[in-house]
Amino acid sequence: MLDRASNQPELPPEIARRRTFAIISHPDAGKTTLTEKFLLYGGAIQMAGQVRAKGEARRTRSDFMQMEKDRGISVSASAMSFDFSNQGTDYRFNLVDTPGHSDFSEDTYRTLTAVDAAVMVIDGAKGVESQTQKLFEVCRLRDLPILTFCNKMDRESRDTFEIIDEIQENLAIDVTPASWPIGMGRDFLGCYDLIHDRLELMDRADRNKVAESIQINGLDDPELAKHVPEAELNKLLEEVEMARELLPTFDQQALLDGTMTPIWFGSAINSFGVQELMQGIAEYGPQPQPQKAEPRQISPEESKVCGFVFKVQANMDPKHRDRVAFVRLASGHFKRGMKLTHVRSKKPMAISNPVLFLASDRELAEEAWAGDIMGIPNHGQLRIGDTLTEGEMVRATGIPSFAPELLQTCRAGDPLKAKHLEKALMQFAEEGAAKVFKPAFGSGFIVGVVGALQFEVLASRIELEYGLPVRFEASQFTSARWVTGPKDKVDAFIAANKQHISHDNDGDVVFLTRLQWDIDRVARDYPDVTLSATKEMM
Ligand code: GDP
Repeated sequence: MLDRASNQPELPPEIARRRTFAIISHPDAGKTTLTEKFLLYGGAIQMAGQVRAKGEARRTRSDFMQMEKDRGISVSASAMSFDFSNQGTDYRFNLVDTPGHSDFSEDTYRTLTAVDAAVMVIDGAKGVESQTQKLFEVCRLRDLPILTFCNKMDRESRDTFEIIDEIQENLAIDVTPASWPIGMGRDFLGCYDLIHDRLELMDRADRNKVAESIQINGLDDPELAKHVPEAELNKLLEEVEMARELLPTFDQQALLDGTMTPIWFGSAINSFGVQELMQGIAEYGPQPQPQKAEPRQISPEESKVCGFVFKVQANMDPKHRDRVAFVRLASGHFKRGMKLTHVRSKKPMAISNPVLFLASDRELAEEAWAGDIMGIPNHGQLRIGDTLTEGEMVRATGIPSFAPELLQTCRAGDPLKAKHLEKALMQFAEEGAAKVFKPAFGSGFIVGVVGALQFEVLASRIELEYGLPVRFEASQFTSARWVTGPKDKVDAFIAANKQHISHDNDGDVVFLTRLQWDIDRVARDYPDVTLSATKEMM
């Protein structure tokens, strides 16, 4: 194992062994398959000490689903924890899911504020696709360390150098091969592990079997020729020599800084390369990182608990109107039943029934450490961006809120159900799924989203969860701006612009317009009033 980056403080072992990450990918690249294999190895290696047979593999998965049923919520949709043992160390992996649909939502961005690293999955035949590129840009904003998995190597894929070049060029990040594929498509044999000098051979007969691993003493070891046919071996030697000449060598600090990504080649469906990737996350992936906050940064090794809400999911159980707030612990050691301070309201909250998303365990866990993700069921007190502490008035920052780019009017199919609609929309607004504005004049609600598909998702959720058919229609407005300033100036502004005024779900004043000209006019006529396209989450 390489030395830890020198600028990181020594963390308590329970925290140091945690790895909290998300998978970013374009739909169909293999995120779900890879997640399943993570769980398979996470549970299997720890419990059985060996790889499970196919039937048992299925059981691991269904245990997990049973847990969802027992708790009546869909846990796999949001976060899962599992253990991974590597060279005598037990790691705790926390995998936070990014929403799967191809449209972009704010949820995705916020999820990436709750992790310390991302695994980027690309399809070996398709390379860097649009959604990968977008998600990567979000990671880049936070200099998030990225580990890359090039999937589907069992199919005809692109030339290895071409794939690496494309990542380097499109994403402007250094790429260093952690493994090198031998053959491809039907002739894909496996990989040479460049970090550990091992030969990993794929077993096509058993998809859940861990690859055969053969220790090699460097590329001139005659042992290689016993396992790799001559033509493939020559190609491998030639390519690795070229790669070592042309591509940067692995540098852990560059990975942690987000300027270099190691790439593993594999086939998730054949369980190939997955373990090596997991070892990479364990050995080189970042430990829980400090969290930006006001008035001071929170460090994971601090003994007091601090956590922040990055996601709220309402109606996980349609029978209850409860929500689950997903909290990332930024510091400390949480124990069930603890009383924490809800910083926004300054009120104490007893956290008696937190959900910890353990994939291998059906019992609720009793504790959590910095780096972990907890679900806290609540009735709406917890909102995105909220901070929970042991009393200190500190507020996590950097949880983004986005300017709604598309506005539509939402009406209930049955006009008598307008009150129900209001309730449903407010709930989604609190969840962060949309911005909802109630115009001072006129009927209906104006809903603002970042991507067009969100309207459809909302319409179907309102129908499904509230039994309420709704219509979205074009709105006369195209832009929304939050209004702030001294109270008398804001009041004067509201009085003079009534037909443009609305309120969001927090009751804050929002100026709706369709013309940039209007916004410029306000800047000119009301110098003390500020119009902002986003609202800081607090
Ligand atoms: P997601 O949309 O990124 O979650 O992708 P999925 O995990 O659902 O995979 C998309 C499709 O690719 C599915 O049909 C998988 O069976 C298939 N798939 C996943 N991994 C591999 C692989 O390594 N090789 C091949 N040939 N197919 C794969």
